[in-house]
Amino acid sequence: MAKANITALFHKKKVATSQHIQRDLVDMLYGNAIAGIMVTILVFTGLTFGFETPMVQDLKHTFWVIVIIVAVGRLADTGYWYLRLKGTDYPPPSAKLRFSIGVILTAIMWCVYAIGLYENMALHELAGTMIVLAAMASGSATILAPSRVLVTIYCTLLLIPLSIVILFDNQHQFSVLGILGIVFWAALISSAFRYNAFFENTVVLKQSNTELVDQMTKERAEIAEVNAKLLDSNNRLDHANSTLEAEVEKRTSDILRLSNKDPLTNLLNRSGFLKHLNSLVETSSSLEKNFAVLFIDLDGFKQVNDSLGHEIGDIVLANIAQRLSRYCEDGHLGRWGGDEFVAVVPYATEDTAMAVAHAMRNGVTVPISANDNQVNLDATIGIALFPTHGKDALTLIQHADLTMYDKKREGSGTIGVFNEILHAQIRLEQSRRDKLRCAIENNELTVYYQPIIHTDTLKVASVEALLRWECDGEFVSPAEFIPLAERMGLINDIGRWVLHRACIDASQWPFEEQIGLSVNVSVIQLMDESFIRTLDNVLKTTPISPEKLYLEITESVFTTNDKDAVKRVNDIKARGVQVSIDDFGTGYSSLSRLQSMDCDFIKIDRSFVKNSDEGNDTILRATVLIANEFDCKTVAEGVETETQIERLRALGTDFFQGFYFARPMNKNDFIDWYNKNN
Ligand code: C2E
Ligand code: MG
Ligand code: MG
Repeated sequence: MAKANITALFHKKKVATSQHIQRDLVDMLYGNAIAGIMVTILVFTGLTFGFETPMVQDLKHTFWVIVIIVAVGRLADTGYWYLRLKGTDYPPPSAKLRFSIGVILTAIMWCVYAIGLYENMALHELAGTMIVLAAMASGSATILAPSRVLVTIYCTLLLIPLSIVILFDNQHQFSVLGILGIVFWAALISSAFRYNAFFENTVVLKQSNTELVDQMTKERAEIAEVNAKLLDSNNRLDHANSTLEAEVEKRTSDILRLSNKDPLTNLLNRSGFLKHLNSLVETSSSLEKNFAVLFIDLDGFKQVNDSLGHEIGDIVLANIAQRLSRYCEDGHLGRWGGDEFVAVVPYATEDTAMAVAHAMRNGVTVPISANDNQVNLDATIGIALFPTHGKDALTLIQHADLTMYDKKREGSGTIGVFNEILHAQIRLEQSRRDKLRCAIENNELTVYYQPIIHTDTLKVASVEALLRWECDGEFVSPAEFIPLAERMGLINDIGRWVLHRACIDASQWPFEEQIGLSVNVSVIQLMDESFIRTLDNVLKTTPISPEKLYLEITESVFTTNDKDAVKRVNDIKARGVQVSIDDFGTGYSSLSRLQSMDCDFIKIDRSFVKNSDEGNDTILRATVLIANEFDCKTVAEGVETETQIERLRALGTDFFQGFYFARPMNKNDFIDWYNKNN
């Protein structure tokens, strides 16, 4: 099928090509026709009217008229070709036929004329006629050469009949002319054929050239078209690219803007503020300008969140952000996270920074109404100055934060500027941090024991295990390093170590009577999921009996999640271990929680024991009352004087602990002390 198609296509192309060639040849014939026809008219007229032929003069005229008619017909046909056909895709056969008819008619006229008048022509007319025919024939050899048939017919009609007639003429000397005529005819035909071959080749060559040029033009057009398409798609791609680039740029800036903003307050967020501060540090360094960084922490916000819910919390934060921004230039305020804000005060001295901080604090303390609730907050603010207190953004914020943290210990609503003492403390804490990490491995931890005395018998009821850290040859107070260990996430490891150590020591006391062991447990340690496993492990691996073990948990346990803390305490009690609430009265006490906690001992903080000296024993009495109410035994901490003992005994406390009896001692010293005093 495909082959047939290809063959048909090939055939079609071949036909088209041969048509072109035919048309070119016909064009050649018509192209030379006018000259030929005009010569014919001229020559025929010359012969007709140039020679007197006796008897046939009228016949000659008739011939002339016919020849002129044929010539005019041919001229008309040629004119038609020039005007209508030339340069068009006309079908060559019909044009060729018309042309051939004209030529053949002309040739017949010549032939009939020569033969018909031969007898009557005088010798000079005959010679002239023969010369004219020979010339006409030789002219046609090139003019009619594009058609072999035509040139053959034309030359033959013009030369052969007359040559034969001459050859067989009675006049003997004429026969040479007849032979010459035939030879001349043969020569003409052969030359005409050569011309024909040349013409045909030329036309074929021209044709293939044309085809080639056509092909090239077509290909060029195709290439131009492809190029145009390519250019178009390139343009479109460029356009798409530039739109995409613009889109990417817009999105990037959107993301950047959003990533630098806090959605709740619309202030700069942590990373946005840091970027801002970094660039401020850069420009201020080169221009030797100074500025202050303020770290603002809200006091009481946690309670708002816990008691009124996050929705109110969010309203309050947005409100505070608005208030704080009144004291800051645009873009100089950020939300550091939670209830912490950071601000920059440009060109600030310590005094101006303090003034702005006070104004901010005053702004915060104005009551806020949120959904029918009135919220009262305060703010603790730490200030660090550039470049005195730090030459980079992070250090400045860190120092302002530490100052705030330090101030918070003094009480809420305080403001302070970073100073060298604080700096030294920070450096010390930093070095302590590094050392605390390896304190257990380096055997720097020891457990000291302080006896807890029975009020009635004044005998040792138990001992409290108190951790000691000997760092670089000096003892660091647990009040200092325990919070550090909590912040560093080391408290679980340290607490586990203390519990093990104390339980091993306690199970090895060489005393006849068994005494109890109190171990302090940090709230963070208590709430860690590993704590109960640690406790079980200790109970399993040491011979201590659970009912002789008391775990002291500070009162801050009441601030943690109620259910979880109660569950932990219950888990401890389920193992027979007893629970003490340490430092009672110093922090966040809640009677309802105390009730749900089911503890065994309440340890009255030494600050109340100390104050009882001055006759101010209301809290002491209240605590003993509460303890009795909840079926808890009381331990008075920090007993240092006999007066205190009298008072506490009168109030009904169950146990004493304090320097009056003994300071915390190492294991061996305690054993000695016990043997001497008990
Ligand atoms: P705490 O549990 O209330 O321990 C009692 C603290 O009062 C001890 O201080 C003790 O030396 C001190 N103290 C006892 N009697 C007197 C006295 O008559 N006068 C004065 N001024 N002080 C007295 P220490 O050993 O410095 O411990 C401080 C706090 O560190 C402890 O308070 C406890 O909360 C914490 N702590 C100590 N060891 C550990 C531990 O192993 N784990 C945990 N989580 N905390 C511990
Ligand atoms: Mg304690
Ligand atoms: Mg205590």
